[in-house]
Amino acid sequence: MREIKLFINNQWVDCTSGKNTNSLNPADSTIVARVHLSSAKDIDRALEAAQSCLHSQAWRQTTLAQRSQILEDIAEKIKARKDEFIEAEINDSGAVFRKAKTDIQNSINHLKVVAKQMLELNLSYQDKNYSRPSFSRNEIIREPVGVCAQIIPWNFPLLMAAWKIAPVIATGCTSVLKPAIETPLTASLLAEVISQTALPPGVINMINGGAAEGQYLVRHKIVRKIAFTGSTQVGKQIMQHASVDLKRVTLELGGKSANIIFEDADFQNAIEGALYGFLFHSGQACTSGSRILVQRSIYNEFKEALLEKIKKVKVGAPKSPDTGFGPVINKKQGDSILAFIEEAKSQGATLLCGGSRLKGLGLDSGWYIAPTVFEANSNHRIYNEEVFGPVATLTPFDSMEEAIGLANQTNYGLAAGVWTNDANLARSVAGQLEAGTVWINEYHLLNSGIPFGGFKQSGLGREFGIEGLESYLETKHLWVSDCLKKPWFSSIY
Ligand code: NAD
Repeated sequence: MREIKLFINNQWVDCTSGKNTNSLNPADSTIVARVHLSSAKDIDRALEAAQSCLHSQAWRQTTLAQRSQILEDIAEKIKARKDEFIEAEINDSGAVFRKAKTDIQNSINHLKVVAKQMLELNLSYQDKNYSRPSFSRNEIIREPVGVCAQIIPWNFPLLMAAWKIAPVIATGCTSVLKPAIETPLTASLLAEVISQTALPPGVINMINGGAAEGQYLVRHKIVRKIAFTGSTQVGKQIMQHASVDLKRVTLELGGKSANIIFEDADFQNAIEGALYGFLFHSGQACTSGSRILVQRSIYNEFKEALLEKIKKVKVGAPKSPDTGFGPVINKKQGDSILAFIEEAKSQGATLLCGGSRLKGLGLDSGWYIAPTVFEANSNHRIYNEEVFGPVATLTPFDSMEEAIGLANQTNYGLAAGVWTNDANLARSVAGQLEAGTVWINEYHLLNSGIPFGGFKQSGLGREFGIEGLESYLETKHLWVSDCLKKPWFSSIY
């Protein structure tokens, strides 16, 4: 069993709290790793390491090309240990084999995309349009924002860690990353990989802990930027903490995304897209298409076909390459999903399938929740709140305007799907949806080179792309005077 200590200055160090906890396999509740819990003193130490590295010549003087090469090296080293990463991700997070394999590959790809895209950053340039000859030369310099506090959830453990460390390394910042306490394993393998590259000690540090440790980290005076991925509720608290020192913040939060199916859509693709939309990773995806809106003319046929297809979902042990649907992360999440289901029933939403924990066939010691669909309307809480489990609502609509109104009704705005063969209709709907990503005849796919993030209460700022990198940079204006006569000085005499 792996013991996960704290990763500070490229060294594994014992926690000073003397406390530890176990990370459990969601499929069978066996212990996967023993995790050292950080004390306040440990977090201080990690942040001090990040701060002194930020000011060190070894890190300050690295070029974009050198930092890009380091990201490439990290990607290649993960690739060389791919199978080990996949196995660890399955055991620690309950991801099914196919998801874990894709996640590890996507993590490698993401690091490589950032390694390439960062070379487009213009970190220092002379202004040509507004500088006045013989008066001033005006230069724009982009500098690292400073020490970052980065916090991630448990649904995509390595991928989220890769999304966070890549812009830090690209822009010359430093970081203390806190993986979710439920899933620290692949982040610890990533730390091991990092320590085998030319990345100076102190650029990336990792601490272990839950809400209390996360809160201590984000409130710390050393921190200049917080990059948080998690629930909207915690995101709001983090923004409040950030306001005390006006820390920079990017937030990637929850969602309640609509998947809108028009009558002219490719029927089979739309059925499969709707199922993939809300059942991928047992619904534990921020972009989960948990509200399926279907045009009334095909509603009944669609409902029947969807319910029939759900019966074919392959539930089982995550490590089997055949399994398509695994457990949710733990009892707490399972209980929360079941409570949502009970409330929906009590509010009069019609349960069409699922609605309970799955047992038997070797599933008893894991937290498996049956794929669940409710026929519901916008008055039901299940229609508006993020469940973060394999639960969707099915709702008919009559017109494009009604579909858009229903889709935009929630406080969230992370993503949406539109299924139609009419390109004009698709563009018109996409243009009116309040969502950071809109898929047309597609679902869940992300592109590491293109900004990702949420409208409304699904987040603030963007990850990925040049926009994502720029959120780790400050802008400095360097004014170089070219004139000796300065009459404005005499205005105060
Ligand atoms: P969570 O907000 O409870 O926890 C997320 C992380 O924050 C964990 O590491 C946790 O330890 C830490 N944390 C908890 N309370 C904290 C506090 N008060 N201060 C500082 N840190 C704190 O979320 P979760 O249940 O782990 O993850 C599920 C949520 O994450 C869902 O809402 C999901 O939609 C969201 N999510 C969003 C994205 C995105 O990119 N938009 C991606 C994945 C998950």
